[in-house]
Amino acid sequence: MLKVLKFGGSSLADAAQFRKVADIIKSEKERRYIVASAPGKRFSSDIKITDMLLDCFEHLYDEEYTDTSFTAIENRYREIISDLGLDYSLEEEFKNIRTAFVNHAGRDYFASRGEYLNAKILAKYLDYKFVDAGSCIFFNNDGSLDTEKTNTTISKVLEKYEYAVIPGFYGSMPNGTIKTFSRGGSDITGSLVARAVLADIYENWTDVSGLLMVDPRLVENPKTVSEITYRELRELSYMGATVLHEEAIFPVRKAGIPINIKNTNAPEDKGTMIVSKAITESSENVITGIAGLPGFTAIYIEKDMMNSEVGFTRRVLETLENHNICFEHLPSGIDTMSIVLRSDDIKDFKGNITADIVKKVNPDSITLLDNLALVAVVGRGMISAAGTAAKIFKALADANINIRMIDQGSSELNIIIGVEEKDYIAAIKAIYNKFVNEE
Ligand code: ASP
Repeated sequence: MLKVLKFGGSSLADAAQFRKVADIIKSEKERRYIVASAPGKRFSSDIKITDMLLDCFEHLYDEEYTDTSFTAIENRYREIISDLGLDYSLEEEFKNIRTAFVNHAGRDYFASRGEYLNAKILAKYLDYKFVDAGSCIFFNNDGSLDTEKTNTTISKVLEKYEYAVIPGFYGSMPNGTIKTFSRGGSDITGSLVARAVLADIYENWTDVSGLLMVDPRLVENPKTVSEITYRELRELSYMGATVLHEEAIFPVRKAGIPINIKNTNAPEDKGTMIVSKAITESSENVITGIAGLPGFTAIYIEKDMMNSEVGFTRRVLETLENHNICFEHLPSGIDTMSIVLRSDDIKDFKGNITADIVKKVNPDSITLLDNLALVAVVGRGMISAAGTAAKIFKALADANINIRMIDQGSSELNIIIGVEEKDYIAAIKAIYNKFVNEE
């Protein structure tokens, strides 16, 4: 059994958190490869080290500002080291980073130093080998990840060490300079390491006990999802549910490695298991989660006999392509079709698009509906549970909410409903209550 663990910023924000992390790691000898984030917030108004570093970079030409800000960063690390009682110094490293400031090194280099320094401390504290991500995670010149080189290098390097700490969030470019992933990217590092060492599980340690069925800002105290498939998670994250960096799913998914979202502050909680194939055929409440997003626009097109007009849809979609716009959903009837788009994407060319569609397909009518919100009800259990859709519609009808659009994905994994933005939160609440509280 081999486990790869990634600890997020709040799990490594100060010495007290470092102690919890070490206890977790040392409690199982299978917990061998550890990916560390930069120190995050210790309290809500605190600033993450990554943000402090980026701020330093923004003021690179203001030496006094950079000096004071970087001293504050150094002090956070010094405090962790002394509070842990470590006989260890990062002073040389600080000096190197200061020199890089003077030499105007790149933005990503500075951003990455947060994880670099934190992983050094963690490796020392655990007495594990420190392995620099810059020497085993590689990007191509176009900025994409060199997946195979990364995979073989990580596995070759880690083969030499039974236990190691690797900083998250960055790798190197073909010319050796440092490049980071997008924000939150340590999740991706963890996933890459897990795949490369063929881990049995990728434990992603954070400050919540897993994914919640619904955004807790919308529904009070929602249930935690105990098991979710990668596909279900994809549907929910697309609609705004966040628990993990979106791109972190792919490496482990490819290798069939489950992810366990765990809470550093409540390690006994089971958390959420993200798996390729769920052990339970359906979530306890049939639905696994609900997520929603406002800010959509629908274009409704009607034309008699449109279904027998060859190339009709293509011509409509071509107008979007010409404006370089992606559509989100395309529910269609016999003589009607609707295109759901992100309002922000089309706000500058609404008139042009409808005029183009009229020119191309000469519809009987075309209407634009703004202020639409989409609500996705996701659950692998829907395939086998009759009446799920009826229950959703009943919940909305009881709450007096008008449904403007319905779309069931061909995977039968989700039902997407369009409602007016003003009804969006009420809709999510109503659906949650129907499935969770009325059973
Ligand atoms: N420290 C980086 C950030 O704040 C990366 C990470 O934590 O995953 O985005």
